[in-house]
Amino acid sequence: MKQLPKLLSKTKIMQGYQCPKNLYLAVHNKEIKIEITPDQQALFDQGNAVGEFARKRFSGGVLVDNKPWDFFGSLKKTRDLLREETEVIFEAAFEYQGCYARADIIQYSKATKRWTVYEVKSSTKLKDEYIDDVGLQTWIMKNSGLEIEKICVLHINSECIYPNLEQLFKEVDVTDILNDKYDEIAPQLKKIFSSLKQDDVPNVDIGPQCFAPYECSYKALCFAEKNIPELSVFNLPKIGDAKWDLYKKNIVQLTDERLTELSDIQTRMVQAHNKNERFVNIEAIHQEIATWQYPLAYLDFETIAPVIPRYVGTRPYQQVPIQFSVHIQKEKDGAIEHFEYLHIDKMDPRPLLIKKLLEACPEKGTIVAYYAQFEIARIKELADFSKSDADQLLGLVERFKDPLPLIREAIYDVGFGGSFSLKAVAPSLLGQKYSYDGMLVGNGTAAQRAFEEIISENSSLDRKQTMIKAMLEYCEQDTLVMVELVKFLNHI
Ligand code: SF4
Repeated sequence: MKQLPKLLSKTKIMQGYQCPKNLYLAVHNKEIKIEITPDQQALFDQGNAVGEFARKRFSGGVLVDNKPWDFFGSLKKTRDLLREETEVIFEAAFEYQGCYARADIIQYSKATKRWTVYEVKSSTKLKDEYIDDVGLQTWIMKNSGLEIEKICVLHINSECIYPNLEQLFKEVDVTDILNDKYDEIAPQLKKIFSSLKQDDVPNVDIGPQCFAPYECSYKALCFAEKNIPELSVFNLPKIGDAKWDLYKKNIVQLTDERLTELSDIQTRMVQAHNKNERFVNIEAIHQEIATWQYPLAYLDFETIAPVIPRYVGTRPYQQVPIQFSVHIQKEKDGAIEHFEYLHIDKMDPRPLLIKKLLEACPEKGTIVAYYAQFEIARIKELADFSKSDADQLLGLVERFKDPLPLIREAIYDVGFGGSFSLKAVAPSLLGQKYSYDGMLVGNGTAAQRAFEEIISENSSLDRKQTMIKAMLEYCEQDTLVMVELVKFLNHI
């Protein structure tokens, strides 16, 4: 029988709610190294920023500032603050029967001698998984002896518009919902702890729980164990149980009968993987490319989408362009000319970016953007922001062509691994030279993080220069890859 840790954090237990194998590996198989991806790091940073911002609503609060791994120090400091009847405590720690949790904000009422618990969430709505999460937390708090009067979730209010940040949070009272849930918690915990004590890793098949409510860090391991590739065109996070079975069966063993239940693209993909061959519809490619008019302007934006808005008129999570790259090609296979802009300070990036964008884009010809609806949406927002440039900006919108739907319909290579993103398609069709591997900034999230470093007072000049160079290289690579992709399609 396996030994259990003295305390198991709420975060870990929630992993067990999602999948017992996930928790078991996290507790007993620490030799399996789990890298924090840039996307996960960005989410953590964002959660921390939102948590700190929420504290501003509660004046005079005292922070339990022990490190996250200092369970016993945090518990002691919390006990001291509770004894002193501290009115507001941030990050208070509680323990009950080996379960450990920290509360974002608790507020004491001298009148009722009871506490209100506030849990801060960065999403724009109350999600189902929060109920389990906050329920477990307040169950631990109640059982450890805290008298709770009310439990509220503070989530982001998507209607908030900068600079009016007083409206940033919406408060939802979940006390009654949780009261109905507490009876389910002890049996659930019993199951989780008993599976953790077993000598063997729980035998769990891959399924929807690998993606939701949170993406599991052991996906690569579990999919490889079952010898099943993870093909994103099936939209695995969202497919239901029945489709999961279909997916697994089709990927593992091909039969024509089962294939009739998949879409054309999915069928082609399964066939390509099972036969290990590339699918190409040359006629469809040539027909579409023939409608594109020179000069071609290959355009790509990088954006930030801060949860706490920072530019006038923007809302939480609104995408704001901070950079673009444009390659211009006047004739088929002709020379290319490059234009770019990267914003590097805390001012609103939009006025200068619009000016540079309009200077860079030719007055006629096709504008090529991969997943063009993203660039189109940003241009429409820029037109909304700058009425004096609106006509010119909206004039660009009508000229867009998008290689993504063309490729999705007309090409599939096993190297895509189920994804039609430029980062999957480019190296498969054009060779490893066009891979993004090894780039300091190699995806949109990394670009957002790099931008934050560039505008931060805490970054050294050297670091800022390095990040500026990396962002310029990354955005340029995106449009350069499109140039090469179109060349490839022209000559296929
Ligand atoms: S990948 Fe799926 S089966 Fe494997 S541990 Fe994660 S959730 Fe469980």
